[in-house]
Amino acid sequence: MRLAMQYSISAGCLTVAQIETAVAQYGAFAPYVEYLRSAGLVSPGFQVSSSSQSTNPAPSNPSAASGSSTDASSQTPAKEEQREPAEDPSISGEDVPVKEITVVEKPNDSAESVGTIPAGTPVTVTAGTDNGYMKLEATVNGTEITGYAPVSVTNDDGETVELFATDVDYEVAWEETKNVEPTCEDEGIIVRLNALSEIEEEETIPALGHDYEETSRTEPTCTEDGEIISTCTVCGDEQIETVPALGHDEGEWATAKDAGVFTKGLRELRCTRDDAVLDTEEIPQIVPVWAVVVGCVIVAGVVALIFVVASERKRK
Ligand SMILES: [Zn+2]
Ligand SMILES: [Zn+2]
Repeated sequence: MRLAMQYSISAGCLTVAQIETAVAQYGAFAPYVEYLRSAGLVSPGFQVSSSSQSTNPAPSNPSAASGSSTDASSQTPAKEEQREPAEDPSISGEDVPVKEITVVEKPNDSAESVGTIPAGTPVTVTAGTDNGYMKLEATVNGTEITGYAPVSVTNDDGETVELFATDVDYEVAWEETKNVEPTCEDEGIIVRLNALSEIEEEETIPALGHDYEETSRTEPTCTEDGEIISTCTVCGDEQIETVPALGHDEGEWATAKDAGVFTKGLRELRCTRDDAVLDTEEIPQIVPVWAVVVGCVIVAGVVALIFVVASERKRK
């Protein structure tokens, strides 16, 4: 079963060395090796080691599982459809049910069920039986299941359907049926279908996120907002960031116009950045001493004049 599946999957692509490696790795039975040797697909002196033969299950019906029909399968003797008890199960690797299987207590159809094993779950085969069952162990959701399951079943069309593949064959049977690459904003999706179990698996790939780079910058002023434009190097999406206006920066008060004699002056507060006038203040006019003296004399003169005029009126 293993070799036939391996061979049918890669038919036409394998070199003699690859076939020999596959046979040595996965095991094969005498008729296969004979067939391969007669077809010139392996070296004339090629031998399969006894350990790989004894620890691998018999190819009961390769065409049912692999979909191919070769001379090799028709040459498989019925005797080899039984699985020999594995001396060391770890050597044979693990098998995988290709459909959900019901594990029964004893190797017969009417035996009581001890549990079901979902397709694709690794199982360890520990022994084979004369009537096409195999003894297996598996752990499903943390529960250990030990019992028997048939190697194959007959479907409604009278065809023999293999229920197990090697874990290697099972891995090889995954095919990608959909592959949508993720974009900056949308997640990607990969859908895989297992040709043996017809289980479909979906894997989502997170969106990549934009990769922004600054492409334009307008600096803010005291009164106007600035702007930074960043563009995604992948999809060209633009992101605009507003940089708030800075506001004026008050400098020192400075005289804009000196005060003169009888004229007012002016002081200004300006922005250190753009020189805008932020505030103004008057500087009082200058009044000279002589003007004060003249003023006093005039006031005194007026007072004196009023006094004189008032005295004259009294005398009359
Ligand atoms: Zn983008
Ligand atoms: Zn300013």
